[in-house]
Amino acid sequence: MANKNQTTKDKKHKHKKRRSRSLLLATTLFLALFVTGIAFRLFGSVDMVSSDISSPVSTDFVETTVSQTTQSKVTLSQTTVQTSEKTTSTRTPGKHYIQPAGADWNLKLVNKWNPLDKNYKQPLVTYSGNNKFDSRAIDKLKALVNAGKAYNIRVASLYRTHELQTSLFERQVKREMAKGHSRSKAEELAATEVARPGTSEHNLGLAVDFLFEQYSSLEVAYEKTEAYTWMLEHCADYGFILRFPKNKQSITGVIFEPWHYRYVGEKVAKEIMSRGITLEEYLQEKGN
Ligand SMILES: [Zn+2]
Repeated sequence: MANKNQTTKDKKHKHKKRRSRSLLLATTLFLALFVTGIAFRLFGSVDMVSSDISSPVSTDFVETTVSQTTQSKVTLSQTTVQTSEKTTSTRTPGKHYIQPAGADWNLKLVNKWNPLDKNYKQPLVTYSGNNKFDSRAIDKLKALVNAGKAYNIRVASLYRTHELQTSLFERQVKREMAKGHSRSKAEELAATEVARPGTSEHNLGLAVDFLFEQYSSLEVAYEKTEAYTWMLEHCADYGFILRFPKNKQSITGVIFEPWHYRYVGEKVAKEIMSRGITLEEYLQEKGN
């Protein structure tokens, strides 16, 4: 009897031992899977982000996504992508600098809060073909293009008439209305894509969009070209500034445009470019 009891006890003990061993095995297996899972997620996501950064397609995708949302700023490595004009168009105009009347021709501010008078008359001269520019600054524009000839700088867009800007804007309004929006809603949406007549600096005759042989379309990836670096370093020597820099959208009302330059004169251009400020900030500071 005692022996029998002993055998049952042994059996129970062995069974217990086996059970705890399989429990230990299961726990170890679970832990191993858990750790592998974490590691996979970690390394997997790092890999994904880095490939997103290096691929221009992803950057464009991020840019498009961000431009459709509001008030957000996404920083990817050294590339900062900001929201489009949609964000700023909802700001109260009173917070923006309004230029007093009588500003010098080269410091005239044109933006959505400071529209150009429809009857403003500037002396225009032909640059090439139908492209016109302010005659008081055309020699500087030619000298700048000539200085950068190693990059084959091309002038893509100069002066636009009030009528041309109106028809560009109207075309966009019609597109929005075709989607079923009311006239006022369509105008509001159109203004996020095309400047309203009188609010584009191209109506002033002192703005220029540059293209280079190395880069021939108006996209943000343009900023990675050598030609762009050259332009940043030399434009002020000829009186031009990068008009819509990165991270200044809330001040200028326009997204980062690495291709758009504005003539302001050498002295002012040098100060603006060396300090990394905008024309709005400069004018507000100087009070003109
Ligand atoms: Zn432009």
